Amino acid sequence: MVRRARALAVLFVVLVACAAAAIVVTRSGDADLTAPEGTASGVEPSTTSSSTTATSTSTTTTSTTTTIPPTPTSVPGVSVGPLIGGPGPIPVLRRIPTTDRVVFITIDDGAFADPDALAVIRDQAIPVTMFLNQAMFRSNGQYFRDLQSVGAVVGSHTSNHANLRGKDAAFQHAEICDMNAQAAELFGHAPTLFRPPYGNYDQTTLQQAASCGIVAAFHWSATADTGEIITAEGPLQAGDIILMHFKPDLGMKLRFVLAQIQAAGLRPARLQDYVASAPATAPDAAPTAAPAPAAPAAPAPTP
Ligand SMILES: [Zn+2]
Repeated sequence: MVRRARALAVLFVVLVACAAAAIVVTRSGDADLTAPEGTASGVEPSTTSSSTTATSTSTTTTSTTTTIPPTPTSVPGVSVGPLIGGPGPIPVLRRIPTTDRVVFITIDDGAFADPDALAVIRDQAIPVTMFLNQAMFRSNGQYFRDLQSVGAVVGSHTSNHANLRGKDAAFQHAEICDMNAQAAELFGHAPTLFRPPYGNYDQTTLQQAASCGIVAAFHWSATADTGEIITAEGPLQAGDIILMHFKPDLGMKLRFVLAQIQAAGLRPARLQDYVASAPATAPDAAPTAAPAPAAPAAPAPTP
């Protein structure tokens, strides 16, 4: 009798544990939806068909605290493509070819304004490039103007964070040029640096970006959305471009990121300062100019 009761108790505990695990999995899946770019390999964050299905619900639940626009459909498993660093109207770089002991911190979207991040960037004079969406930065305009006033460079991440690849020229032109017009109004000048949402682009993107005044587009070779720098290949090295997002606790994460950069004998620098010297059609210096094969697991809740 006692033995059976004990067996039932054990079974109950196992069932509860399974249910809890299922809830955790569901939650983390939802969190991923709010986070477009995310893997260190430069491979598009896997937007799986299941996550696409759940988009409407998660967007609804998060819309009270953030202003994340509808998640555009992304092609599952899409790689960075052959155009990285290749011939085009503007260069596309995932790393900066330089022997200076520098790396580049980029922060995307603009969905969340962490006052501590502003304090860290200001107090420690951290050079960062912000790839902002018009749809997101509008609600926190003053925050981003404050960041600009302490040295953060405003770059473009389109108006509505649409997946540009395969879209017609008129659509892409509007997404890029409208963002530049809005940014010029808010920040005093139009961005010249650009990151296509999800890292997805095609030749039309590059042509339209150039016609909107963009001089260079950027992918990334490392991510740090958890505060831990994860590189696509090997240790952090000179020229790496680090992808982060405006998310809660960004200030704390930036402190960790800065410490890791310094521990590697590197320092953060302004992307803008290295663009002019980057040859327009130079082959990408990264070892994996070809589509990277397997993406390392993305940092927990990705951007
Ligand atoms: Zn983004």
